[in-house]
Amino acid sequence: MNDLSPARLIDALCPECGRAIADVRSFSHEETGCVRCFDSYLRGVDAEFLDNYARCGARGRIVVAEACVRALVLSDVADRKLLAMTVYEQFIAAATDFIGLYHALLNRRDVPIVRGVLGFRLDVPAAAAFFGDLAHGGAIELLNRFGLPCPEQVDALARHLDRRERKQVREALAEALADLERVESFRDVGEHALVSAAERLGGTTALVDGTDWLSGTRLPAGQVAALALSRQYPGVEINVLSTDEETLGAVVDGIDIMTRLVRNVIFAFVSLHDPSQFHDGFRRTCP
Ligand SMILES: [Zn+2]
Repeated sequence: MNDLSPARLIDALCPECGRAIADVRSFSHEETGCVRCFDSYLRGVDAEFLDNYARCGARGRIVVAEACVRALVLSDVADRKLLAMTVYEQFIAAATDFIGLYHALLNRRDVPIVRGVLGFRLDVPAAAAFFGDLAHGGAIELLNRFGLPCPEQVDALARHLDRRERKQVREALAEALADLERVESFRDVGEHALVSAAERLGGTTALVDGTDWLSGTRLPAGQVAALALSRQYPGVEINVLSTDEETLGAVVDGIDIMTRLVRNVIFAFVSLHDPSQFHDGFRRTCP
């Protein structure tokens, strides 16, 4: 086992490139290396990571949300509120996944994609930057920022793909464009929900079904409140959430859109970039 005590690290050399290690990251249980070698290792696994993530983890939010909605039908009033809250949490998580992917692909030339995705933390500027870019540039411009062309450009750009693959990529891009326009239409709700969620991150949220003891105001029937300490002023924030079927249906639609966007964007991105581009940090623009 390597000796990673501070005194030992001063003299340690990267086993890959021989440079002095200023900052050690584990590759595996046996190897350690410098940040530059670690990033080069990450670039070598970026494509596989994206592919696996799109097929598996990115679906988690919609699977959990739909399971909660099915369970709601058979639950009593108290449990319905808790399940509804979980649906809201999946919306925040799905939107965070998508905005994290946006920033990771936007910064792909500077930071390996795995590092961009896993290191993403939702905060107010990150949520506002995403919705601002979408509002100012529109869906096509946003697609370009993801490193993706319009559907009509696929045939000219992707000669390394066969006809069937080009058709699949065109369809994924067309669906992503339509979904980005739908995201823009719920900007007010989405940005507000995400910014307030981002402001509360790091703190604890507690769910209550009555607020008269706190604010003197009763919650209307079918609503539930998430309590959090305010970061702006000394006080407790009361975030009221509806648990009726129509509102929850809209939230589940939002999760569905975000999940589909993550999967389509990744599918098109991995299909349109060849392994050498992943390895060299996307210095070349087209395959
Ligand atoms: Zn190295």
